[in-house]
Amino acid sequence: MTTQSAAAAVRATVYGYPRQGPNRELKKAIEGYWKGRVSAEALRDTARELRRANRSQLAEAGITEVPTGDFSYYDHVLDTTLMVGAIPARHRAAVEADALDGYFAMARGTQDVAPLEMTKWFDTNYHYLVPELGPGTVFTADSTRQVAELQEALSSGHAARPVLVGPVTYLLLAKPAPGVAADFEPLTLLDRLLPVYAQVLADLRAAGAEWVQLDEPALVQDRTPAELNAAARTYRELGALTERPKLLVASYFDRLGEALPVLAKAPVEGLALDFTGPAAANLADLAAVGGLPGKRLVAGVVDGRNIWINDHQKSLTTLATLLGLADRVDVAASCSLLHVPLDADAERDIDPQIRRWLAFARQKTTEITTLARGLARGTDTIAAELAANRADLASRAASPLTHDPAVRARTAAITDADARRSLPHPARAAAQRTRLGLPPLPTTTIGSFPQTDELRVARADLRAGRIDTAGYEERIEAEIREVLAFQEKTGVDVLVHGEPERNDMVQYFAEQLTGYLATQHGWVQSYGTRYVRPPVLAGDISRPEPMTVRWTAYAQAQTSKPVKGMLTGPVTMLAWSFVRDDQPLAETARQVGLALRDEVHDLEAAGTPVIQVDEPALRETLPLRAAGHADYLAWATESFRLTTGGVRPDTQIHTHMCYAEFGDIVQAIDDLDADVISLEAARSHMQVARELAAHGYPREAGPGVWDIHSPRVPSVDGAAALLREGLAAIGAERLWVNPDCGLKTRGWPETRASLENLVAAARRVRAEVTPTDG
Ligand code: GLN
Ligand code: ZN
Repeated sequence: MTTQSAAAAVRATVYGYPRQGPNRELKKAIEGYWKGRVSAEALRDTARELRRANRSQLAEAGITEVPTGDFSYYDHVLDTTLMVGAIPARHRAAVEADALDGYFAMARGTQDVAPLEMTKWFDTNYHYLVPELGPGTVFTADSTRQVAELQEALSSGHAARPVLVGPVTYLLLAKPAPGVAADFEPLTLLDRLLPVYAQVLADLRAAGAEWVQLDEPALVQDRTPAELNAAARTYRELGALTERPKLLVASYFDRLGEALPVLAKAPVEGLALDFTGPAAANLADLAAVGGLPGKRLVAGVVDGRNIWINDHQKSLTTLATLLGLADRVDVAASCSLLHVPLDADAERDIDPQIRRWLAFARQKTTEITTLARGLARGTDTIAAELAANRADLASRAASPLTHDPAVRARTAAITDADARRSLPHPARAAAQRTRLGLPPLPTTTIGSFPQTDELRVARADLRAGRIDTAGYEERIEAEIREVLAFQEKTGVDVLVHGEPERNDMVQYFAEQLTGYLATQHGWVQSYGTRYVRPPVLAGDISRPEPMTVRWTAYAQAQTSKPVKGMLTGPVTMLAWSFVRDDQPLAETARQVGLALRDEVHDLEAAGTPVIQVDEPALRETLPLRAAGHADYLAWATESFRLTTGGVRPDTQIHTHMCYAEFGDIVQAIDDLDADVISLEAARSHMQVARELAAHGYPREAGPGVWDIHSPRVPSVDGAAALLREGLAAIGAERLWVNPDCGLKTRGWPETRASLENLVAAARRVRAEVTPTDG
């Protein structure tokens, strides 16, 4: 299927590999170092050994060009900040005193200095440390680490390609440093940054790099003409350097769009493009610009951020088309394999037949090399692999797990009315007022209370068989009683049971829903040394039995005040899981929405007057390009309304959101039609309250007045001042008083003091707005 010359050139490669090691050795070594139990020397040895193991695993799988510089002690954007010398003034002394400790100080802060801010890496669940730049930023090149890791790979005999965050993406991900005007645009520093990249490229060339990869995922987002010009100028200037390796500019997570012609014309030797999911549009776009004559194309045909086996036939068709569009075509994953767990073969608890549907990083490398071989030598040389792939795909498609007729019939029968409350909000609000009898500015919390050591011990004891279910449940009930007693004593109006039975707000439900799989070793880096094990939405979703009713009903039986039931919403269930790739996300969301609807129904039937459905992830899975927003928001809000639409008018539906700016999705928040929404707002001084007001948001809202991400106890004065700002935006009849988020990461002493102050602030402001007669 290919010509001989193209065949000889095909390489299999990846842009990055999981860093942690098979048993999260890196996490253990780093945390040991922080605690003083592991020396810097030993930590470096562990890191070197993990890099070596990764390289040999890749080489054994047949990856012909291994990445370097993808390793990190914490985060690759932070590594880039050090490479370009953009160390904030407050961290400079620490970095000069000790490079490693200074690095961790930038990542985590110290007693005296705040860390860099952390935020999501595009629409993944990986978090990077945000560069802080200003007009005074001076860049200086430090390529030591990049050079050392390249030499490490070269000296062990690998063809290696350093991978760097590209200069345009680096600047677009940065924010103005503290004290710098908020409208400062880091991209204006491009002219200062490019010479530093030029130096690093020269150093890598001198160290033996034939190719260097510059990652520019920011170019798959909607970009202004000025930003596209900056990209054009960047690659014109870097391309014009004489002392440089060949340049491969990589994009992933979506189509390049308007940036494609810019990069196609740039004097660089190669482009890497994503051809999975919505980025498959790159194929037609590439044909439309006349391909990449004279350039190397690295084709990301294996999905690098999901855990399902590849469809080889589909990839080979794409690759065959691409062969006609570039000088040379190589095979890769769509993005770094950082976003998937290491090895599906380690999942011994998963039915072997189902395990065959899974491809983690290790399996993906084999898929890539198989495709590269097929492309180079003809598909008959991979006939056995293709047959096995076809059989596995067929087994998945035909499995009862992926096709539950009852679930299918139910989603097919959904009507508009199912996703709508029976009465409009004003009528519901009146009924709820009568039923709940709350004061103005009612107080509540977001759901969780501190996760104490006793609770963790109880869960561990249950798992290890040291206590039985009855013993475990007694401990949970005792905790619930304590949490309720505290809220009653403090004078909170709408109580919660505290979520002591939940390890994690997604996993808890995933474990109880049919169609979800759990992994034992499927760790993925979330940030730094924090790894998560996302559950897998593998099949059709249904809820065999109530999941939360037992605890909510127990709590309600202890008190005459209303207790709020707590669920994680369908959009967040999808966002923090690995999703199916064999049906539209909208269909999966509908299934999860209906399963949660059953839970809402049972909570209501058990007498729960208030039910909160958390959707903290609504904003974060918004597609990267505006063109995809309307479709996403339509199914996302529909699935929420499927969960909540069936309740009585006098059952009050709450929702909660945090970790993001919500200004640009206020319409979608409105479309959820929840009776009450609580939002993170304390740090931004109630900005979101003003955004809701500007939109004319018609229902009740509780912008948070206690920043729970900090151990600081909010003062009564401070919380009251925020409440008055809230009042100015949202009237007294519609304003709620609550913290920014759940309290599970806080300790009891600060929780007690903070909640007492929050209630006192509510009482004070309540008195100001309620005229007393006489
Ligand atoms: N109900 C959850 C809690 O309080 C919400 C957590 C979240 O928003 N991430 O913990
Ligand atoms: Zn939250």
